[in-house]
Amino acid sequence: MKAVCYYGTEDVRVERVPDPAILNPRDAIVKVTATAICGSDLHIYGGYIPTMEKGDVLGHEFMGEVVEVGRDNHALNVGDRVVVPFTISCGRCYYCKQQLWSLCDNSNPNAWMAEKLYGFSASGLFGYSHMYGGYPGGQAEYARVPFADVGPLKVPRALSDEQVLFLSDIFPTGYMAAENCEIKPGDTVAVWGCGPVGQFAIRSAYLLGAERVIAIDRFPERLSLASVHGRADVLNYADVDVVEALRDLTGGQGPDSCIDAVGLESHGTTLDAWYDRAKTKMYLATDRPHALRQAISCGRKGGIVSIPGVYGGWLDKFPLGAAFAKGLTLKMGQTHMHKYMPQLLARIERGDIDPSFIVTHRVALDDAPQMYRTFREKQDACIKVVMKPGQPGDGR
Ligand code: NAD
Ligand code: ZN
Repeated sequence: MKAVCYYGTEDVRVERVPDPAILNPRDAIVKVTATAICGSDLHIYGGYIPTMEKGDVLGHEFMGEVVEVGRDNHALNVGDRVVVPFTISCGRCYYCKQQLWSLCDNSNPNAWMAEKLYGFSASGLFGYSHMYGGYPGGQAEYARVPFADVGPLKVPRALSDEQVLFLSDIFPTGYMAAENCEIKPGDTVAVWGCGPVGQFAIRSAYLLGAERVIAIDRFPERLSLASVHGRADVLNYADVDVVEALRDLTGGQGPDSCIDAVGLESHGTTLDAWYDRAKTKMYLATDRPHALRQAISCGRKGGIVSIPGVYGGWLDKFPLGAAFAKGLTLKMGQTHMHKYMPQLLARIERGDIDPSFIVTHRVALDDAPQMYRTFREKQDACIKVVMKPGQPGDGR
C-alpha cells in the first residue's frame, strides 16, 4: 500500500510499504478514506520528537471503513464506517476505567523508553515515534487498529467524512482544553494559537458557556476564522503587547482561564523568545515555551492555565514562581479521546457545530510532502489539510 513515511527532519516521502495485517485478536484493519495532518505532526517534521526511525508511517488523524476484524473483536463488523482516536487504549486497565484513556497502561509495547524519560509511560499513539509504541500511522491507504473493540467510533452515513474526521483528535482536544478551564457563566477565556486546536478550543469554550473568548495569533486568515466563525475577539501579537492588551480587555484583572494551544514551537518577538530560539538551536533546551510563559503571566489570580499544546522535554525559564504566587491551576496532557468522542458526535448530529469549517486544503496522499511544507510555513492560507487516499485531491 501507499503511505506517508518519515525519513528525517523536514523529509517526508510517499512510499510503498507492506499492507498491515491483524496481529492480535482485538485488532481491526481500516481502509482509510480521509486523514489529516496535525500540528503534532509538525513537531515530528521539525525534528523535535525523539525515537522516530526512517520509514516510519506517519499520521494519527484518520477514519475509514473496516475491512477485517480479529476473532475476539465483537464490537466491529466488516463494512462499518469508523473514526479512530489517535490514542490507543486497552479499555481494561486502571487508567482506562477512570476515563484517563490517554494514560492507558497496556498499549505501549515500548513503555521502557518513555519510563526512562518521564518515569512512567502514557498510552501508545498512532504514527508518533517508537517511544509511543512505534505504531504505523493513518496517513496511508490502510491501518491496523489495536484494541479496536474499544477505540473506533461508528459514525452515521448521513455525515460527511469532513464533518466527523476531526473527532479523531483536534475537536476532542480543543474541547478537553476548554473543559479543563471549568468555565463558569461570565468567564473570559484567552486562547494562544489559532491553529486547528485553538479554533476548536474557542468554539468549545462558547459551547461550555464562556461569556467571551480572546484569541491570539499572528496570521490574518487564522485570526479572521477565530473572529468571524469563532466569535472571538482577536489580538495579533505581532502588532500589540499581548500582556497589556489582555489586562486592558479584562478591566485589569486578567482572563479567568488561559489556553495554550501553541505548544513547544512557540514563535515570539520578545527577549525570552529569542533566548529559547538560541538555546534550542544549540541543543541546550528542548522546547520553546514563550506562549506558555505569557499565559501564566496573563492569567488572573486563582485562575486556570489549560495546556493542550504539546511539550516534550525540560523547559527553561519556566515561571513557576508566578504560577505559585497567583495560585494558578495548571492542567494538561494528551486528550482522553474515548471519553469525548461519543458526546461530541452527538453535538455534531444536533447541529451544535460542523467541524468541517476548519478544512482549507483537500489533497491526494501523493501531495503529502508538499502539504507538510505548506502547512508548516502557513503558506497559501493553509489551516487544515485533509488527504483522501485513493482519490485525487482538488489541490485546495
Ligand atoms: P498549528 O501549528 O497549526 O497552530 C499553532 C498556532 O500557534 C499557529 O497558528 C501559530 O501562528 C500560533 N502561535 C505560535 N506562536 C504563538 C504565540 N507566541 N502566541 C500566539 N500564537 C502563537 O498547530 P495545531 O494543529 O493547532 O496544534 C497546536 C498544538 O496542539 C500543537 O502543539 C499540537 O502538537 C498540540 N496538540 C495536542 C493534542 C493533545 O492531545 N494535547 C492533540 C493535538 C494537537
Ligand atoms: Zn493530532
